Amino acid sequence: MFSFESITGYHQQLNNNTVSCSSVVKGYLVRIEANRNLNAFVEVYEQEALQKAAELDKKRESGAPLKKLHGVVIAIKDVICYKDHKVSAASAILKDFTSLYTATTLQFLIDEDAIIIGNCNCDEFAMGSTNENSGYGKVLNALDNTKVPGGSSGGSAVAVQANLCMLSLGSDTGGSVRQPADFCGIIGLKPSYGQLSRYGLLAYASSFDQVGIFGKNLDDVALLLDIMSKHDPMDSTMSLQPASRLYPIRSQRDKKFRFCYFPQAVDHPSIDMEIKEKINSLTNQLKNDGHTIDPVNFDLIDFIVPAYYVLTTAEASSNLSRYDGVRFGHQSEKKPADLEDFYLNNRTEGFGLEVKRRIMLGTFVLSTGYYDAYYSKAQKIRALGVAKMNSIFADYDAIVMPTVPETAFTLGKNDKDPIAMYLADIYTVLANLTGIPGISLPLFSHSNNMPFGLQVMTNRGNELTLLHISETLLKGYRSSEVNNQ
Ligand code: GLN
Repeated sequence: MFSFESITGYHQQLNNNTVSCSSVVKGYLVRIEANRNLNAFVEVYEQEALQKAAELDKKRESGAPLKKLHGVVIAIKDVICYKDHKVSAASAILKDFTSLYTATTLQFLIDEDAIIIGNCNCDEFAMGSTNENSGYGKVLNALDNTKVPGGSSGGSAVAVQANLCMLSLGSDTGGSVRQPADFCGIIGLKPSYGQLSRYGLLAYASSFDQVGIFGKNLDDVALLLDIMSKHDPMDSTMSLQPASRLYPIRSQRDKKFRFCYFPQAVDHPSIDMEIKEKINSLTNQLKNDGHTIDPVNFDLIDFIVPAYYVLTTAEASSNLSRYDGVRFGHQSEKKPADLEDFYLNNRTEGFGLEVKRRIMLGTFVLSTGYYDAYYSKAQKIRALGVAKMNSIFADYDAIVMPTVPETAFTLGKNDKDPIAMYLADIYTVLANLTGIPGISLPLFSHSNNMPFGLQVMTNRGNELTLLHISETLLKGYRSSEVNNQ
């Protein structure tokens, strides 16, 4: 029986003829079918994946050298365009919409011979923290089916967690890769803003959105990041700095890093006591091992979630105005009285509750009379956040923090209380607000049997240090009760 450990290990098995791409893809298709109850996939590209696998087997047998992602089985979130495949952002408004082109990030993976096995469930338009706001229904956490997988990229996280693919792509606007990775016990990486192309990523909040990566093996995550970190003229917000080589990760295990943490984050009233204790004992251990670990004052902490929700909903209200039923998506059967009525019917029927709430909130914060009170203030918080990050990274390599204040929520827990749900984003939104990269590393296990992660953030554009630190932490600081997957 094939069990996936790493891309390098898989390629060795292919070269030794102990497995073939076809047999591996068949194995994944069987597992996907057996785990239908998790609801991780929106669509599985069964025939296509099998055909691609057969082509790759032939290519290999003919002696052609293996490309970097030869036969690597990857799933994508339902917000990433793939030409001639449906993409809907898990929304009724885009039901049956087919992509006209392929997202650049995805194209880079396909160019290296990856096999795309399907697209994954998520919160509608990537708005949510539980994957319960999906037009396709909720996704279940594979470790405990009474718990959420996190969101919004819940399906992509579960696809990796439950071994339904090797790696997957999600998107992270305020934590949607790191938070589900934390809840599912896997690695979730959000690159710096501008590191990866957003061309072909359905927009939620354009100045926050980034494609992110889920995996169980850090080297594999680094390889995908390296492959996708190429300039794309189709995204004018991409960084113009030449990307550093991110793969292979050159181990820096003897290096002593300069870490800092925010007492306001670790002592926040919303944090679970056991998460706090375990993070504190990890920071003590890092100190004992000769790393620097200093407290740094971060009094913006209680402003960042409100700033995030003001700015992202403002951007969403603009981005989602294109879904009017004229050019895209759902058209109501109701006979409209006039044009406004036509838009109203299409959008009322097409969007779900959370998306409507955010469009209204975003429209409100941008409206005359309220703009200065909300939008301008939130922009100021953002500017203060960026300035704070610049001063921190002049002295430190990384900030460490929990990823989420609690472990995976019980399904339905915060159904009636969106504010409570928004506040749980307290540790993840900072990276998006300030454009820095962040990763959630599956280092811990809670006594409630659910996993949780440590979040590490480095300076904008410094994915290299982020990977070096992640390697050190995963190799030397994973609690013994966590399976070394
Ligand atoms: N939970 C956050 C939100 O609901 C994150 C969303 C995201 O990163 N796409 O906005």
